[in-house]
Amino acid sequence: MILLINSMVMDKLGSALKDSLKKVAKSLFFNEKLVDEVIKDIQRALLRADVNVELVFKLSKDIKKRALDEKTPKGISQKEYLIKIVYEELANFLGGERKGIVIKKKKPFKIMLVGLFGNGKTTSSAKIANYYKKRGYSVALVGLDVYRPAATQQLEQVGKSVNVPVFVNSEQKNPLAVWKEFEADLNGYDIVIVDTAGRDALSESLIDEIKDLNDEIKADENLLVINADMGQTAKKQAEQFHDSCGVSGVIVTKMDGTAKGGGAISACAATGSPVKFIGVGEKFDDLEEFNPEGFVGRLLGMGDLEALLEKAKEVMSEEDAKDMTEKMMKGDFNFFDLFEQLNAMNKMGPLNKIMEMVPGMGGANVPKEMLDVQEDKIKKWKHIMASMTKEELENPDLVFNRSRIDRIANGSGTTARDVRDLLKQYRQAKKMMKMMKGVKGMKEGDMKKMMKKFGMK
Ligand code: GDP
Ligand code: MG
Repeated sequence: MILLINSMVMDKLGSALKDSLKKVAKSLFFNEKLVDEVIKDIQRALLRADVNVELVFKLSKDIKKRALDEKTPKGISQKEYLIKIVYEELANFLGGERKGIVIKKKKPFKIMLVGLFGNGKTTSSAKIANYYKKRGYSVALVGLDVYRPAATQQLEQVGKSVNVPVFVNSEQKNPLAVWKEFEADLNGYDIVIVDTAGRDALSESLIDEIKDLNDEIKADENLLVINADMGQTAKKQAEQFHDSCGVSGVIVTKMDGTAKGGGAISACAATGSPVKFIGVGEKFDDLEEFNPEGFVGRLLGMGDLEALLEKAKEVMSEEDAKDMTEKMMKGDFNFFDLFEQLNAMNKMGPLNKIMEMVPGMGGANVPKEMLDVQEDKIKKWKHIMASMTKEELENPDLVFNRSRIDRIANGSGTTARDVRDLLKQYRQAKKMMKMMKGVKGMKEGDMKKMMKKFGMK
């Protein structure tokens, strides 16, 4: 798996997805725009990894639908839930929870490998034999590649390397006849692995041959062996093989190379048959059971997911944040609060209207600028706040500092002037909060009522 992670493209795919989820964790709030942004990032990452366009769009549609429709379970924030959905859908896309092969107690349990030339069937058959032999099964290999002159020798050789009996007949040019010749002998083994012939491309003759073999052998697993660098042709290939023999699973080989794994991902999604094993090298030990959830976890950064979720929790503490009213009564007021307030203002309409509804505030001297804050300004401020660190959001005084202002302006794609503008807004809002605190006759209950009007708790 370490090798796999070193694979360049997978690494890139992983970091792109990771960055996207970091964006979620860092964003201040959850809305459709955030969902769209995340989906766009995921699309970009998958398309770059050569995943089929249609599949990418299907995946994004599924994520979006769930993100917007599903009710967020109690105890986690919407943003955490979005991360969870992305993670689940990606894992699902790769084959869900399923992994490996369940070897049934019947003799023999038959595994047939199909695929085109050079994709790694013969190598994989030895790897699988090795894999199950180590787990205590008696295993045999049967060679049905009757076309390539060296095929029988190659199988004998790899069989010897993993110390497993090999059944071949280099004289016989009919694969079905080879099978029939050894069928009785094979009944004595727990697992029989059938290595078949390939072609340069999927041809009528190969399909017919596989169909015939499939009808006769009736393998418990038909595994399509596909090279990781197959690219998008993998989808069509997977479908055609699926039609001819009902592919029950995929082995993706050469995952140790720099190939784009996206083609294989497509293949597996297209056939609805999960990746069961991955080949990660030329040695016979270089085979791993594929675990989609673990794989996605690693794609997203080897355990970083936990940290991400933690981070999302931190920023998204609205649910368990201290009561706003309490905070304001104490005179604390930071950017988180301002942000909430601006959001609420957006929802509630003009502030002066709200003020009128608050006892004692109707005639209050509220600064004019405070009252006609335009929506696009608010939008800009939100971007600016999204570029602040958590520390800065909690301690606005830190931001009254030139280098911080420049950094934040840069990060948010705004100007230092815009940042100063927000700082001014912050000071005014804070002043107003103090003012409200000072309004005679205004009880805590009234304040709470007003906060409720604001859309705050
Ligand atoms: P077949 O024609 O489908 O039977 O393919 P082979 O099993 O003969 O494999 C073709 C080539 O791919 C051989 O040189 C193998 O060593 C190589 N190969 C197979 N699987 C892997 C893998 O997972 N990683 C690497 N690096 N090479 C592999
Ligand atoms: Mg072969």
